[in-house]
Amino acid sequence: MDYHSTTPVDSRVVEAMLPFFTEKFGNAASRQHMFGWIAEEAVESSRASIAQHIGADQKDIVFTSGATESNNLAIKGIAEVRRQKGNHIITVQTEHKSVLDTCRRLEKQGFEVTYLPVDSFGVVDVNRIRDSLRPTTVLVSVMFANNEIGTLQSIAEIGKICREHGVVFHTDATQAVGKVPVNVSTMCIDAMSFSGHKMYGPKGVGALYVRQSSPKVKIAMQMDGGGHERGMRSGTLNVPGIVGLAKALELSVELMAEESKRLMVLRDRMFHEFVSRLDAVSLNGHPTDRLPHNLNVSFAFVEDNALLMSMKDVAISTGSACSTADPEPSHVLKALRLPQERLHSSLRFGLGRFTTEEEVEYVITRVVESVRKLRELSPAYQSLVKKRHQTVTV
Ligand SMILES: *Cc1c(COP(=O)(O)O)cnc(C)c1O
Repeated sequence: MDYHSTTPVDSRVVEAMLPFFTEKFGNAASRQHMFGWIAEEAVESSRASIAQHIGADQKDIVFTSGATESNNLAIKGIAEVRRQKGNHIITVQTEHKSVLDTCRRLEKQGFEVTYLPVDSFGVVDVNRIRDSLRPTTVLVSVMFANNEIGTLQSIAEIGKICREHGVVFHTDATQAVGKVPVNVSTMCIDAMSFSGHKMYGPKGVGALYVRQSSPKVKIAMQMDGGGHERGMRSGTLNVPGIVGLAKALELSVELMAEESKRLMVLRDRMFHEFVSRLDAVSLNGHPTDRLPHNLNVSFAFVEDNALLMSMKDVAISTGSACSTADPEPSHVLKALRLPQERLHSSLRFGLGRFTTEEEVEYVITRVVESVRKLRELSPAYQSLVKKRHQTVTV
């Protein structure tokens, strides 16, 4: 139930990767012999396949170690190149930490960053983006799909506004690529981050799409070295990882329609069961514009960590795995301006390719049981029940 934090590698992906650890172990930058050529050929056909699946050109793909690096490279790299033009960046309060912390660093270096709020569903108002544009705005970064509440943003509309105003548009599409249709051409996306391990590929590999034509987007390299990836990201390429990323994306696109239909049914059943068997349950995020496999629910009067601890055999989380060292409530739920008590009583469920119907039934039973048990111990809940009872008898 925690597929938003990571996914298992699909066995078909492992199979595609294996030869590149052993007999085809060459360095893709070795131009002088067969081993290098074979590795390079594998990298380039992976690049072509990835590009094709997101509506890009082969030369637009830069391989990285994952979406954290892609976000850093995109935001710092674009800000640096466009520094002469201006110092203003627009992003959103519900972004992943790798976007928010990167923006914070740029603020220390003299950039001005607007962190736009979202509505109670987690959606950023497109008009607000347009109104926030300044002559000095050089970059807009808005995530495609939220990793906690699953909310999808109006990416194509935002892309169009940025294109009209000559502002570079970056999106962190880590939770969206391979899960919902993504097309950088029709959506006017200039730069896009994604990662292998969120779509049944390996950890430690990802990509940054950077538009190379109409219009060309320039980025400044953040890693000095051998000038790999056409000068945008130095470092020996992770050939097995890249092959795995391409295979993972191919499979995800092929299975997308069927998989999202199946997961949406299971996801909706879960929520329906929670609502019908428990009271004071509410959905966080958008009811329809959301990832098909995401569910984020508040169980009022129950402390989220106590709930997790009462179900140690189920992998659920309260939010992003990337900030679990932090006891503060999730910055995403805070941005929805939920009432204080809901901030600490929300769970995120992420279903995936290998989630079975039986597992979903099991989790429903465990959650309902645990919530009931914890509420029996909650004075606030008990007094509410008593009050309700009195109202009824009066
Ligand atoms: C997981 C995630 C990241 C970070 O990706 P890594 O490849 O683990 O660095 C960035 N953004 C979002 C939305 C994510 O879900």
